[in-house]
Amino acid sequence: MATRMDDLADVRVFVYRRFAETGDPPAPEEVAAQFGIGLDETLAALRLLHDSNLLVLDAERRGVIMAHPWSAVPLGFVVAGEKVKWWGGCAWDSFAIPALVGQKCLVATHCPGCGRALAVDVCPDEPTTAELVAHFLVPVARMWDDVRFACSHQSLFCSEEHVGRWLRETRYPRGVLLDMHTLWLLATRWYEGRLTREYRRRTPDEARAFFRELGLVGPFWDNAPAPPGPSGGERWGLPRTEPALLARSDPSLLSPEARTAPRPASP
Ligand SMILES: [Zn+2]
Repeated sequence: MATRMDDLADVRVFVYRRFAETGDPPAPEEVAAQFGIGLDETLAALRLLHDSNLLVLDAERRGVIMAHPWSAVPLGFVVAGEKVKWWGGCAWDSFAIPALVGQKCLVATHCPGCGRALAVDVCPDEPTTAELVAHFLVPVARMWDDVRFACSHQSLFCSEEHVGRWLRETRYPRGVLLDMHTLWLLATRWYEGRLTREYRRRTPDEARAFFRELGLVGPFWDNAPAPPGPSGGERWGLPRTEPALLARSDPSLLSPEARTAPRPASP
């Protein structure tokens, strides 16, 4: 039964909610017990969810290691709520957790540019005003090529200068920069409804429209399937000369009217 789409949604929500409530994913045996099904059937369901990019299994395709925005493995971010502590997968994921769990959380990480510890309070219903920047390295169309790598390189930095320092040291191509307001909007809205049965992943067109609404346009955000890129400096198809524009979202997106206005249907 567990591989029917309806039942898959139940399994997905069970995994996500367990993460939200305890900070850890359920073991496959616990999923089997919850739904009264065998382990083979459970693993088949988890693998279908993995293959649909709705969660990430380990190399044995058995244990859940990520169910965005949560991670079972440390990837550089800690998110502390009132009673539970989570590993946030990345800057994008960590900023989404407070809205999903409905409580203010302390998000902590290190600036990859200088190693300084950074800690930010992130609220479910009010954007973060910290003077930090986020840098995303892997373009949207390539994020699922190696989702763990992509998540580990969506980081918070002290400043644009420290992003530049890190890029010079690592020789990675420039990705995109976001201010904290834009990161907060992106994160809280992207994952809206994630804990409900009705949630479904956005289609590529819906995702593009969503990014555009936040002012996130350009090759980095274009999620059209790209051919496998060359390795080395020009990997991911982004030239080194790509200007890194600091994405600052329109302040009107923050007005009380804008916050309560009906949003375009987003899964
Ligand atoms: Zn720094």
